[in-house]
Amino acid sequence: MKRVPTDLAIFGGPEAFLHPLHVGRPTIGDRQRFLARLEWALNNNWLTNGGPLVREFEARVADLVGVRHCIATCNATVALELVLRAGDVTGEVIMPSMTFAATAHAASWLGLTPVFCDVDPATGLVDPDHVAALVTPQTGAIVGVHLWGRPAPVEALAKIAAEHQVKLFFDAAHALGCTTDGRPVGGFGDAEVFSFHATKAVTAFEGGAVVTDDGLLAERIRAMHNFGIGPDKVVTEIGTNGKMSECAAAMGLTSLDAFAETKEHNRVNHALYTSELRDVRGVTVHSLPPDDESNHQYVIILVDGTSTGIDRDRLQAILRAEKVVAQPYFSPACHQMPPYRTEPPLRLTRTEWLAERVLALPTGPSVSSEDIRRVCDVIRLATTSGPLINAEWDKRKRNGS
Ligand SMILES: *Cc1c(COP(=O)(O)O)cnc(C)c1O
Repeated sequence: MKRVPTDLAIFGGPEAFLHPLHVGRPTIGDRQRFLARLEWALNNNWLTNGGPLVREFEARVADLVGVRHCIATCNATVALELVLRAGDVTGEVIMPSMTFAATAHAASWLGLTPVFCDVDPATGLVDPDHVAALVTPQTGAIVGVHLWGRPAPVEALAKIAAEHQVKLFFDAAHALGCTTDGRPVGGFGDAEVFSFHATKAVTAFEGGAVVTDDGLLAERIRAMHNFGIGPDKVVTEIGTNGKMSECAAAMGLTSLDAFAETKEHNRVNHALYTSELRDVRGVTVHSLPPDDESNHQYVIILVDGTSTGIDRDRLQAILRAEKVVAQPYFSPACHQMPPYRTEPPLRLTRTEWLAERVLALPTGPSVSSEDIRRVCDVIRLATTSGPLINAEWDKRKRNGS
C-alpha cells in the first residue's frame, strides 16, 4: 500500500497495477458458447441479412426491455441516423452537449443541426426547461440521453415533444437494463437506441439496436437498414447498410447470457467505490436513484480540486501512471469540440462545470474488490497530499523530467 506521495508511480514509485485497468473492458461471457454459436453460423452458411442469430438477438433485446420491435444494427451511431431519417426529422435536433460525440454526429451526418442544451449538474441529464426554451419552428426532434445509465426525464421531455409536435428519441447507449419509476428504458419516446459496442455492458463487438413500440416506424427502419428493401423485396426508399452480422449477434447473445451477472458484479463494484470514497475530500461518486434498477456500467466521480489542490486532470494523470486508465466521460462536451465550436462560443455553464470534473473509474466483471480498494487508496493518497504532490510536480517540471 502506498503511504507517502513519493510512493505514487508518477514520482517513480511502483505501479499499483501490473496490467492496465480499463473502463469498459468487454463482457464477453462464456467463450465456449460464443464459439459454438459461431460454428453453428458457419455450418448454417448464413452470415448476415437477418439470419437466425440476429433474429434471436432482436427477440431477446425486445423481451428484455419490454418493447414490441427491435431492429439490430451494425452500431448505435447508424441506429441514431436511422431513427432520425425514418422519423422524417428536418431542421434542428435538440440534445444535451454532455454526451458522446456520436449523438451529435448522427444528426450532423444527415444534414441536421444539433442544438445543444444544458444539463442538471446534479444528475448530468438534460434540463427539460432549457430544452423547452430552445424549441423553435425549425425544431424537428429532441434526443434525450440516459447518461451514465441514469434515465433522462422522460415524462417532461414527452410533454414538450407532444406540445410542439416534434419527435422524441433517446440515446440509450448507457442504459440497457435500467429502469425509471419501474419502467425499463427502451419504451420511451418514439424510439430508443442501444449500443453493443465492445465497451458497453452488453457487447456484440460492434452493434446497436433500435427499439420501439411503433410498428410503422419499425417497418421503415427495418427496410432502411437493409438498403431500403421492404417486406416485399422491393427497394421502396433510400436506405443504407446498417445490418448486424450473425457473428456480431453470436457475441451479442453470449454477452447477453452473462448480463444478469455483469449487472450484479457492477452493482457490487459501484457500492464498494461509493463506500471507499465516501469520506474522500474533493471527490463525489455520482449516485443513482436507489429505487431504480441500473446496469451500474459507469462509476463516475466528480473531482473538485479547490479544497485539495488535485483537480480532475491531475488525478487522471496520477491514476494513469498507476495503470488505472480512468476516462473523462464526457469531456470536452460536444459544444467544446472543434466541429461544434461556434464563435462566439456557446456557453453551457452547468455542462462545462461537469465536463471539468467528470472521471469514469474502471469497473465491470474483470475488476475485483481488491482492485477497487487499490484504486481508492491511490485516490485517497492523492487527494490528501495535494500541496506536496503539486510542489513535487512543479519541481520535477522545472527540472524537465
Ligand atoms: C457508445 C455511445 C454511442 C455510440 O455507439 P456505437 O455503437 O459505438 O456507435 C452513442 N452514444 C453514447 C452516449 C455512447 O456512449
